[in-house]
Amino acid sequence: MAVHPRLDCVKCPSLCCRMAGYVRVGREDIRRLAKHLGLTAAEFERRHVVEVTKKGEKRIKEGFKSCQFLTEDRMCGVYEARPSDCRGYVCWNQEDETVYDYAVFLQEGIGKLRDREKNIKKSS
Ligand code: SF4
Ligand code: SF4
Repeated sequence: MAVHPRLDCVKCPSLCCRMAGYVRVGREDIRRLAKHLGLTAAEFERRHVVEVTKKGEKRIKEGFKSCQFLTEDRMCGVYEARPSDCRGYVCWNQEDETVYDYAVFLQEGIGKLRDREKNIKKSS
């Protein structure tokens, strides 16, 4: 897995919260999020869990859809209580580089993206 130069998240329209796949919530996440929103865990699940997998994994964001907690000003509406999946996520060290490529393009333009692609070709 390649680790790319870090980007400035302040300049980004929170692409990870829009594009970067699903977000899982475990029991602790649900407890913390429910408390933050003044709900019981059962209420939280009823209102905010959007997908339950066959294995019983609960998700509050479906893959490739914007997160329900992303606010209009591109912030996380539950930041203090956000799920563990979101904590520590950065797009520049992911196996799937789609989000990173979009973020580079938005922040640094097509020239930088092409330079990066050239460097990858050279080193392979
Ligand atoms: S997509 Fe990358 S640059 Fe944008 S907010 Fe997320 S981690 Fe930061
Ligand atoms: S919970 Fe917050 S940090 Fe996590 S995907 Fe949703 S908006 Fe982004």
